[in-house]
Amino acid sequence: MNTKHYPSWPERLPKTLTVPGTTVYDNLLVSAKRYPDKVAVHYYGASYTYTDLFLEVEGLAGYLEHGFNVRKGDRVMLYMQNAPQYIISLFAILRVGAVVVPINPMNKAAELAFCIKDCGIKVGIVGQEIYENVQGLKATTTLESILVAAYSDYLPDREVFSDLPDAVSAPAKNHSEVTWNDALANNYIPSEYAGKQEDVAFLPYTSGTTGMPKGCVHTHYSYQANIFGGIHQGNATNSTVHLAALPFFHVTGVMACLLAPLTIGASIVILTRWNRQHALEMIDRYKCTNWVNISTMLVDFLANPHIHDYDISSLKAISGGGAALPAAVGKRLHEWLGLQYFEGYGLTETIAQTHFNPPQAPKLQCLGIPTFDVDSRVIDPVTLQELGIGEVGEIITNGPQVFQGYYNRPQETAEAFVEIDGKNFFRTGDMGRIDEDGYFFMVDRIKRMINAAGYNVWPSEVESYLFNHPDIQQACVIGVPDPVRGENVKAFVVLHPESEGNVTEEEIIAWAKEQMAAYKYPRLVEFRESLPTTASGKILWRQLQNEEAEKSKSS
Ligand code: AMP
Repeated sequence: MNTKHYPSWPERLPKTLTVPGTTVYDNLLVSAKRYPDKVAVHYYGASYTYTDLFLEVEGLAGYLEHGFNVRKGDRVMLYMQNAPQYIISLFAILRVGAVVVPINPMNKAAELAFCIKDCGIKVGIVGQEIYENVQGLKATTTLESILVAAYSDYLPDREVFSDLPDAVSAPAKNHSEVTWNDALANNYIPSEYAGKQEDVAFLPYTSGTTGMPKGCVHTHYSYQANIFGGIHQGNATNSTVHLAALPFFHVTGVMACLLAPLTIGASIVILTRWNRQHALEMIDRYKCTNWVNISTMLVDFLANPHIHDYDISSLKAISGGGAALPAAVGKRLHEWLGLQYFEGYGLTETIAQTHFNPPQAPKLQCLGIPTFDVDSRVIDPVTLQELGIGEVGEIITNGPQVFQGYYNRPQETAEAFVEIDGKNFFRTGDMGRIDEDGYFFMVDRIKRMINAAGYNVWPSEVESYLFNHPDIQQACVIGVPDPVRGENVKAFVVLHPESEGNVTEEEIIAWAKEQMAAYKYPRLVEFRESLPTTASGKILWRQLQNEEAEKSKSS
């Protein structure tokens, strides 16, 4: 390991960690044995103990195996918002040795169909409010069976919180698929558990540095390394209470809000949809101690005029990742609540955190230092030479959290790694530098990625959908600066000559909204007669992006 990069490593922590030789499913089993009656999950006034979770996991695992014929290695899609059923499904899928494929619940039918076909998903566990997006896909993809979950099945008889999100309070609807209650009513017993740490456990989708979404192959081992790494950093103990507001489909959400807390016997307080008032009430009611978020949530939370009417003094640790926290927000958090924000850094390919800010010495707008057993460096992306302190280059990472590769994509997998000093490093596509204390800072991205309100948007994917519009001849999608969302998605569009005057920019936006997830569709469209290109015809997206950045600076 390259120790020169660890000068600020907290003294009480070892630099390496022994990852238990167990699977992610075993974590729930252990917690249920140690803390059978402890509340694992609070859900809008309802509470579920570790024993409750464990029994439901067994029940659902039995149905997956005997009712849906799910076998070891089969891919099962989890397409729902945060709810108790998400947690139960995740562990039940792992219980039968199958692979969890988490899909963003904002995705629409075309986006889903792509992932289902890409990795051959066999079964979908789906929130009823988004079932209509999946409904037709059994006929056109590998999807064989669907189980539909109504979140209201897990609410208490008496609602404690008013104005619940529609998806949470909606009663179960009629349809011809298997419902959650049907599945559990069968009382099937699953076979003996035979999961191994080297088995593939999760296949989260990301676009990586280029192109369309790709499945990241993760074993139980890479997840366990990060779960236990987070726990050893002190991110969760058996007395912490976590506000689980980040979406579970995303690696940071599942790791920080679900897996790490439930592994150590903590309690989590689920928010199905972000709502700053609910967050405030839940922190007060359940005395939440930890909250991992994205900066846009925190900005919204701090802007709530009722913030001082509630007792949120239980909050001890607020941290986040996925995007930089604006310095002014970090300052406000400190002035108002006396809390320091701890930023972290990681990617879907590394199952969230590879870098963290040690609580003893955090730096603002900083990715932090590499966590346990991580060797991270900065290299020249062209010559692949390691760079010195302060020099800007591509961040590369080697560690136990790093994925095995992109599912069925040997070429993209080979391109994602570089060998240095006999070790395989993952190329993050992020440009950064290391300071004299060994802290990493992000400067720019090599990859074409937009970070809109914490969601990653890959321009080439958005462009591929735009090209389906009959009037669009050429499109280039970029990120433009936005004071609240960080970046906004903008499309430069060249129309077919015969289409000019037939369609407006607003119509293109409305059409795109129908095709793509809400965070992904371009909210800004500008028609151009042509787009700047290289001699070989490649669109100069960076030139357009720089023009927009200049415009926003001068406005
Ligand atoms: P994802 O695969 O969705 O987790 O996205 C990973 C990407 O999010 C990274 O490659 C970065 O571009 C960005 N990212 C993650 N953490 C941070 C951070 N602390 N500050 C800025 N960008 C970040």
